[in-house]
Amino acid sequence: MTVPNHNIDTPSDRSDATPSETQPDILIVDDTPENLRLLTRMLTKRGYKVRQAKSGIMALQAVAALPPDLILLDIMMPGMDGYEVCQHLKANPQSAEIPVIFLSSLNGVLDKVKAFQMGGADYISKPFQLEEVISRVQNQLVLVSAQRQIRQLNAELEARVRRRTAQLERANQHLQREIEEHQRTQEVLIHMAFHDALTKLPNRALFLEKLYGALARLQADASEGFAVLLLDCDRFKVVNNSLGYSVGDELLKAIGQRLGSALGERDTLARLGGDEFAILLDGIGNLDRAVGVAEDLLSEFSKPFHLRQHEVYINASVGIVLGAADYEQPEDLLRDADTALYRAKALGKGQYHIFDPELHQFAIQRLQLETDLRRSLNDRGFMVYYQPIVALSTGKLAGFEALVRWQHPTRGLVSPAEFIPVAEETGLIRALGIWVLEEACDRLRTWQQQGVGSDLTMSINLAVQQLLQRNLLDQIDRLLADTQLDPRCLKLEITESALMENGEAAIAILHQLRSRGIQLSIDDFGTGYSSLSYLHRLPVNTLKIDRSFVKRMDGKSGNMGLVPAIINMAHTMGISAIAEGVETPQQFAQLQNLHCDFGQGYLFGVPLNCQLATELLQSQPRWRPQSPASRSHTKIYSDPISAI
Ligand code: C2E
Ligand code: MG
Ligand code: MG
Repeated sequence: MTVPNHNIDTPSDRSDATPSETQPDILIVDDTPENLRLLTRMLTKRGYKVRQAKSGIMALQAVAALPPDLILLDIMMPGMDGYEVCQHLKANPQSAEIPVIFLSSLNGVLDKVKAFQMGGADYISKPFQLEEVISRVQNQLVLVSAQRQIRQLNAELEARVRRRTAQLERANQHLQREIEEHQRTQEVLIHMAFHDALTKLPNRALFLEKLYGALARLQADASEGFAVLLLDCDRFKVVNNSLGYSVGDELLKAIGQRLGSALGERDTLARLGGDEFAILLDGIGNLDRAVGVAEDLLSEFSKPFHLRQHEVYINASVGIVLGAADYEQPEDLLRDADTALYRAKALGKGQYHIFDPELHQFAIQRLQLETDLRRSLNDRGFMVYYQPIVALSTGKLAGFEALVRWQHPTRGLVSPAEFIPVAEETGLIRALGIWVLEEACDRLRTWQQQGVGSDLTMSINLAVQQLLQRNLLDQIDRLLADTQLDPRCLKLEITESALMENGEAAIAILHQLRSRGIQLSIDDFGTGYSSLSYLHRLPVNTLKIDRSFVKRMDGKSGNMGLVPAIINMAHTMGISAIAEGVETPQQFAQLQNLHCDFGQGYLFGVPLNCQLATELLQSQPRWRPQSPASRSHTKIYSDPISAI
């Protein structure tokens, strides 16, 4: 709407229709034709569009047909007067906003008040001045225009607010989604930090956390007892090495599930790493339940695990410790459970052991042993002793087995049975082993140079860590080159269990050793449960029958146990047999009758130091069952180790 010549803007988007986009539309309502004419002329002249109504009814009809921008309304009209018209207009939302200027000759204050009460926007007294009418009309139109602008601005503002609100809501939803995603990621990360990826069980960190809680509860209330069980699979390496790591992983998962199903709601099962699982039994007052659970868990291992097409049997050992208020930190409980586990394994595996403080003492002693071992390795505190090996058919000396001895700075001679396992666990055996190898080869070379050991073999024990050591072959090649020894004089002894646990890798190295002419012997044969098919693939020269089998040979009843079978098996495989632990002339005679090739044991001689071994060699001994000669040798020398 434009108010001509007066610079009044007209909102272009008026909600109510206008007769013209440019000219304001004014409706004049008056029953006096003269007024109508006068006003029409004057307003038309000013550029307004003018419509006329001679009565109230006509006015309402005109407004209903097309609402004007402004109404000039006479009050005094026959029929419906101006007030009533105004009332109708204001009652109708279509016309309520249209400004109404009353025209009247009623000039009383009350009339004017009534006019405004009816909703009139202005009041012009008759007879009117044209300029006043124009001026008041313009004012009202400016006002209307301004109101419309305000309305439009408001509408725009509201729309913007709505748009902004919608945008903010969207941004908020996005943020909410991001927060939720972040929370989920955080939950996953926390779960990962406290769980084992393979078995999905709690890991060491979470287990220690739970243990911490259990310990705190016990310290606050003595009736809140608990126990910790540490379970470790025996010979798990065999599974990994023979069936592969993925079957090993399957087995760990299956073990986790089986253990979980044997435990109660309150108990916590965790995988600490490798094949080690920990169990927290909460709310127990004494060891009975812990022992019961340990027995249940161990019996779970009596059933085979079915993994892909394999049926796998595996054993486990368990260490048990009962919670006590004087433990300061959860790690100490794990340490003691570990000590008990270690003991269970040492006692023969497949069983449980309960921690007692003496075991802790034992662990401390073991640590001391390890420290002393390291020191002695630097200080050359070891010696090699030589135990004779006899060719049973002739009774002549066939060679020696080199056995290491430790001259402990304060304890005197320490048995290999005590320190070799520690040296193996700590890896010190590699340095110790190569030293024994060098020492024994040097010794044989010296004897050969003295002309006393030309046809002797030197048997040397090789620990599994040495066998799998990358530079073993280099070391041996260098040794052979330095000593100029015939490799065939050298016989390396590897225990059956070491071979079993290291499968293919071990076989490959054995072949390399054999290709150099070095002889190989399976030590402690009969204790490692190797299968015949596996045995057949080993490139060895000798089976060394474990002394537990020789010991069980009962001469009187003629019961030889497994010894004849082992000797036959060796011969069928085209290799020789040697019996360990021959202590009696009867055993000697029986072994001779069974055509066992070699014998070793206290009957022929205990392990001897270098000087005594040289003397024995020089005496060119010959042993015969029941002959005084054999006895005299056992009497002359005694093994300091066997007295420990
Ligand atoms: P092994 O290789 O089976 O050695 C034979 C063990 O049986 C020796 O024990 C020997 O003293 C003992 N022995 C020999 N004859 C008899 C007998 O008639 N009766 C009885 N009861 N025992 C007899 P030792 O010297 O105490 O060695 C124990 C084990 O320590 C060895 O068993 C071997 O496995 C290991 N060992 C010893 N020296 C070394 C070494 O230099 N390197 C490695 N890796 N292991 C070694
Ligand atoms: Mg041996
Ligand atoms: Mg042996």
